[in-house]
Amino acid sequence: MTNLTLARGEDGIAVITWDMPGRSMNVMNDVSMAEFAAAVDQALSDPETKGVVITSGKPAFIAGADLDWLEAMLAGTAGESKEARVRGLFETFMGVHRLFRRIETAKKPFVAAINGTALGGGFEVCLACHRRIATDDPRALLGLPETKVGLFPGFGGTQRYLRMLGALEALPLLLEGTSLSPAQALARGLVDEVAPAAELVARAKEWIGVASAEAFVKPWDKPGFVVPGADPRTLAGVQAFSAANAMQRAKTYGNYPGLDAIQSVVYRGMLVPLETGLRIETEAFVKLALDPRARNMVRTQFINLQQANKLARRPTAVARKRFSRIGVVGAGLMGSGIAHVAARAGIDVVLLDVTAEAAERGLDHIRRQQQTAVERGRAGEAEARAVVARVAPTTDYVRLAGTELVIEAVFENREVKAEVTRRAEAVLGREAVFASNTSTLPITGLAQASARPERFIGLHFFSPVERMPLVEIIRGERTGEEALAWSMDFVRQIGKTPIVVNDSRGFYTSRVFGTYTREAVLMLAEGVKPALIENGGKAAGMPMAPLALCDEVAISLIHQVAVQTARDLGDKYRPTAADRLVAEMVERQNRLGRRTGKGFYDYPTDGPKRLWPGLSQLAAEAETQPSVDELKTRYLAIQALEAARCLEENVVTEPADADVGALLGWGFAPWTGGPLSYIDMLGTRPFVELCDRLAQQHGERFLPNPMLRDLARRGATIYTEHRAVA
Ligand code: NAD
Repeated sequence: MTNLTLARGEDGIAVITWDMPGRSMNVMNDVSMAEFAAAVDQALSDPETKGVVITSGKPAFIAGADLDWLEAMLAGTAGESKEARVRGLFETFMGVHRLFRRIETAKKPFVAAINGTALGGGFEVCLACHRRIATDDPRALLGLPETKVGLFPGFGGTQRYLRMLGALEALPLLLEGTSLSPAQALARGLVDEVAPAAELVARAKEWIGVASAEAFVKPWDKPGFVVPGADPRTLAGVQAFSAANAMQRAKTYGNYPGLDAIQSVVYRGMLVPLETGLRIETEAFVKLALDPRARNMVRTQFINLQQANKLARRPTAVARKRFSRIGVVGAGLMGSGIAHVAARAGIDVVLLDVTAEAAERGLDHIRRQQQTAVERGRAGEAEARAVVARVAPTTDYVRLAGTELVIEAVFENREVKAEVTRRAEAVLGREAVFASNTSTLPITGLAQASARPERFIGLHFFSPVERMPLVEIIRGERTGEEALAWSMDFVRQIGKTPIVVNDSRGFYTSRVFGTYTREAVLMLAEGVKPALIENGGKAAGMPMAPLALCDEVAISLIHQVAVQTARDLGDKYRPTAADRLVAEMVERQNRLGRRTGKGFYDYPTDGPKRLWPGLSQLAAEAETQPSVDELKTRYLAIQALEAARCLEENVVTEPADADVGALLGWGFAPWTGGPLSYIDMLGTRPFVELCDRLAQQHGERFLPNPMLRDLARRGATIYTEHRAVA
């Protein structure tokens, strides 16, 4: 055994310690699970062993399934028949159930000494033990978060949660993939005891020493067991279940097969013994594993997200950089947010603005945010003070001397940005990187103001900076490898995920995201009912309805970008019906968006927002209205197509970046795994046919690009052509 040890002490208690060599965390894969099974069987068959403690030799307990293992399971092997895959998956999972049942029905007590985070499979093994004693470290996470990546708990978690908590308490935890602190898990009865990590094994042994035979029989293995809570065979139970089901549907529009499966598995599990429940869980899990939506979600949200966080595409020749001092120019909405996240990561920040008041306002923002963090128990007083103290507001460029990176977040204006670049570079050291947080201005153009364009780069943050996990790194034509590598290091240091893109108008995220809201405005111009336009967006799985989103972003900003683009492109710019409608909203109707209280919606002070009735005067409602499904398809197709164009034009170089960026950057329908995964899921040929039809009905913007036509002709997919992590 290399991944775990089994040691029986004088007291007759065996301790199984997971400690996988060369890894920072224990994970479940076929090797570690086979060794675990062997250790369990050895302890069971040894007559001298009175009881077993399971623990870990690492700071965390077990993090769950190993990525490579999971990926291999979901992807299957080439040439394998579907029947063989189904059988293989079924056997793997039933094998785990049998192992866990051997633990659960052993005539010896098993105790999980959970010394740190235990998630997914790592927590499911604990649920199979007779007692769970968890560390009192509030940062440890316990739970079953599988739905967050498109799956559901497949090692018995659905059935044991159900039998421990009852359906109505188990369902929200399973559907939302909630992770709990040890104290929360204790309050819900998911762990039995909480203690300092150093005492866990001793306490476990103590319990084993005194436990009666009765104590290590699970409630569901005793005669007459009834699942706690509402019974689905009663009227109250039926009502509770259908209400939960309806709420779920209203939120997810049936886009998430894993969530539907959880409900069904829990419902059916209530009516049968555990063994049958586990089989039901496995059947549903295997079915889900074969659903391309689940596979795509796992690939993007789990595997490729981790790759991005490991900086898989970082230039390897450049040594890693840790930042200790940076500058931020412009202390407005974005600049103060950027300064804040950097200070939170322990970096000293010089925060510069034109006036001392403006710079102070930026610092005030940080102070307020930290205050809230303290009030909500997310930060200690001293920690909050330290964060604020790291930020030095100023109006003096000389203070930027010695900073390793300067990020400008001043007005979106070329001249202003050029001046800031020149003034900062005049005091910066030779190695320092200069980054622009522009949302629309091409980086290569902005770099013209720089005396060293090889150290000039785009770092596009999203608003609100504190919450949004993505940073889009834009490489200008002359950006050098070191500036790129350092920027990626910086993004990780502040805990965000980077994607790297090449220069283009709107870069990748704004360019593709813009097609979503533009499509909605075009629908409005066609005479589609506004409420239908909004429902279509939500049904597609977008986090926000498109017209509401225009209001949030500000219609005036959308207008301003269109005007700037028209000016830059001159004769080549073709104004659309959407441009005209947006111009009308801004210039004639003075409806600029949410901030001014008037946009596509009205925002009465005494009630919820309402679609503006005046919209029907801007565009008469068409006599025949499209179906929600048709609108949903349009939204997804237009974004997917634009993402494919970005790939063809080398704006994004890897499908994984495009999909991770879409999910993290603007919340693109997560159930698809991203816009390019969506195309592969439909199949490139059906997707091209779909776009040709849409182009005929709605205009040339839907015409597929040559790359897609070529893939379709050859029956190839985007991910197989671009072999990163496919
Ligand atoms: P903002 O108006 O809130 O802040 C801009 C700040 O820059 C102001 O405090 C202003 O006083 C300061 N400033 C202006 N000229 C300056 C100069 N010469 N020297 C120093 N400071 C100067 O704007 P914002 O929303 O924070 O946007 C800043 C940049 O970030 C823009 O380029 C914008 O396109 C980009 N951006 C904005 C968002 C967003 O959602 N708001 C998202 C991504 C990127």
